[in-house]
Amino acid sequence: MTIQTMTLGYARMGKRRELKKALEAFWNDASDAESLLKTSRDIDVENWKTQLDGGIDCIGVGDRTLYDSVLDWTVRLGLIPPRFRGLQGLELYFAMARGQTGIPALEMTKWFDTNYHYLVPEIKADAEPQANFSDFLEIVRQSRSLLGERAVPIVLSPVTLLHLSRRKGKFEDDLAKLLPLYVDLLEQLKDLGITQVQLHDPIGVKSGVPDLQTAMTETYSRLTEVGLRIHLVSYFDDLGENYGWVTQLPVAAIGLDFTRGRNLELLQTQGFPADKQLGVGMVDARNVWKIRPSSVRATLEAIRTVTTNIYLHPSASLQFVPHDATQETKLPEPLRQVLSFARQKLEEVVLLSADDPETALAQIQRQWQAFEQFAPATPRVHERLRDLTVSDLERSLPYQQRRSHQPQLPAFPTTTIGSFPQTPEVRKLRLQLKRGEITQSEYEQRIDAEIAQCIELQEQVGLDVLVHGEFERTDMVEFFGQKLSGFAFTQHGWVQSYGSRCVRPPIIYGDITRTEPMTVREFEVARSLTSKIVKGMLTGPVTMLNWSFPRTDIPRREQAMQIALALRDEVADLEAAGAQIIQIDEPALREGLPLKSERWNEYLSWAVDAFRLAAAIAKPETQIHTHMCYCEFGDIIHQIERLDADVLSIENSRSNNETLFEITGAGYKHQVGNGIYDVHAPIVPSVEQMVQQLQTGVANLPTEQIWVNPDCGLKTRRWQEVIPALKNMVEAAKILREKP
Ligand code: GLN
Ligand code: ZN
Repeated sequence: MTIQTMTLGYARMGKRRELKKALEAFWNDASDAESLLKTSRDIDVENWKTQLDGGIDCIGVGDRTLYDSVLDWTVRLGLIPPRFRGLQGLELYFAMARGQTGIPALEMTKWFDTNYHYLVPEIKADAEPQANFSDFLEIVRQSRSLLGERAVPIVLSPVTLLHLSRRKGKFEDDLAKLLPLYVDLLEQLKDLGITQVQLHDPIGVKSGVPDLQTAMTETYSRLTEVGLRIHLVSYFDDLGENYGWVTQLPVAAIGLDFTRGRNLELLQTQGFPADKQLGVGMVDARNVWKIRPSSVRATLEAIRTVTTNIYLHPSASLQFVPHDATQETKLPEPLRQVLSFARQKLEEVVLLSADDPETALAQIQRQWQAFEQFAPATPRVHERLRDLTVSDLERSLPYQQRRSHQPQLPAFPTTTIGSFPQTPEVRKLRLQLKRGEITQSEYEQRIDAEIAQCIELQEQVGLDVLVHGEFERTDMVEFFGQKLSGFAFTQHGWVQSYGSRCVRPPIIYGDITRTEPMTVREFEVARSLTSKIVKGMLTGPVTMLNWSFPRTDIPRREQAMQIALALRDEVADLEAAGAQIIQIDEPALREGLPLKSERWNEYLSWAVDAFRLAAAIAKPETQIHTHMCYCEFGDIIHQIERLDADVLSIENSRSNNETLFEITGAGYKHQVGNGIYDVHAPIVPSVEQMVQQLQTGVANLPTEQIWVNPDCGLKTRRWQEVIPALKNMVEAAKILREKP
């Protein structure tokens, strides 16, 4: 018998990022609200049609958003922080998303372990939420006119919403305020003729969430009374210790992710209630690869021995993958054939639901075989990894001993994080090169002119350690990926990162090797122009992995180690070219942490090893820097110590010195680059502000441990802001040096 199919949300930006363009036009006053809303609606309708034509039985609707769907629920529930009072409609919405003069936006943070960012709701203890679901109900109404019974509204569970919020009051009080509003929503959906809804409740996959059972039991008992079929949907990991009671909650169906974690094992050992339907999240919504026929076949068979009352869906919303792999006509055929973006994921769900999927599965199997023949396999990398010993991950001298061999600089040495403004002219150069309008050597000459200007400027400003400015880099991962073999790049593979921001992650499809030096040319150009020290700049192995779509048949550890080997060779080459300081950025190291804290150590152990493999080749005289931004260190500081970087630069200005306190509180002994000014705001901080920020640092760390720098790269800033800000920063450092 064919199995029913369902979707849990779809790629939202449009095939050609139409929503991005519409949003930016609206923000720049180049278009009006009506045309923005029309674009958003058109994309959604097109997505519905794609899913309908794709043969999906139950289509998740209501995930359309102008910025972020968590924000949408926050606004619908009337959870408006007092500072936004008085604003209305789109003005209110975008003020909460992006801030307004004098009114800071909501905080933004990562959605579970994805690269998607949501806006964090703020709920005061005395909040009196007043719901208005009219936009949602309108979307549902529209979807029903096209999809009829197939439309299944997607609702964010109040339990997940509250757990992701900044709250002041007691959890049960906040939940008690929200539940009647949700009951009301479900009633209104019922009045529209809706019979089933999805409640997305991914919080259930996190470990150690306090009182989760009470909150979810209370929630689903109340919501079930309305009389709709409730699909409780979880994703991104297994239900772990919550499996037993979650599967007993009073709902009609439970959706589980069978692509991550050990839900299959839980199902097999603990069973599944006969009166409920099981949603099988089998097609991986978090990567770009087609299903592996033998493994999905085995999983499905194993599930069927426990329950046959199932329906199939992607493992999560398809917002995490690009639209359509058939658009990638420039990729080699054997690779393209095994890629699966949102449209192909739909096809896979449908084919798995068919009575006899064997013919289709056999074809996918053949495509995988062709891919395996084609994908670069480099035995040499495997040999090198196999032959590694512990000493390959170890600097030749411990920190305290190598320190005196490294460059001696004034107290409070000043530097930057690497990138300088990427002006429209610089971006145009790359476009011209790509279009063949300028030759490679013309391109290099123009880049070198940028480097020269940047060096001169840094000398004028009086920085101690200079950088070349990263003008040749589009993006810190893409740049290296393009130079390494084993990475592929798409033309249209955009996924939403936040709001209108999209990223196009590279795809790791084979063994990773470096064919030639990647950064030495620009480093040498910069070095030849100054007598000051120029830092070599690299992106770390873990960040490259975490910001790509990795292969799923090779452990992430191994892919990180392969990248690390390539970087290790680059470190050696930079050193040979005269680099006394090399920075290896790892801003994405923390975000790779698994959702379950019991798996953190396993991840951190190889992630830190990968960094060490890249860095440890450096001679004791070479100072290794690393940079991380916008992350909390508290719980992982000891693993950060194990990186054994000589200098760790951090964001510290937005967190009000909290990041620094975490580090110093844990007794960190190496040097810390104190990120004393926020590069994301178009503001020039004063000397006094920076002196003050630094003084807090001095009070907490011995002077010898402190460096002075902005909190991240300056790529998105304009020169008019950068120059005075850096001047003030250098001035602030001087003032501190002169203090007794
Ligand atoms: N070196 C990079 C830059 O300056 C670091 C960027 C980052 O941390 N995200 O742009
Ligand atoms: Zn940064």
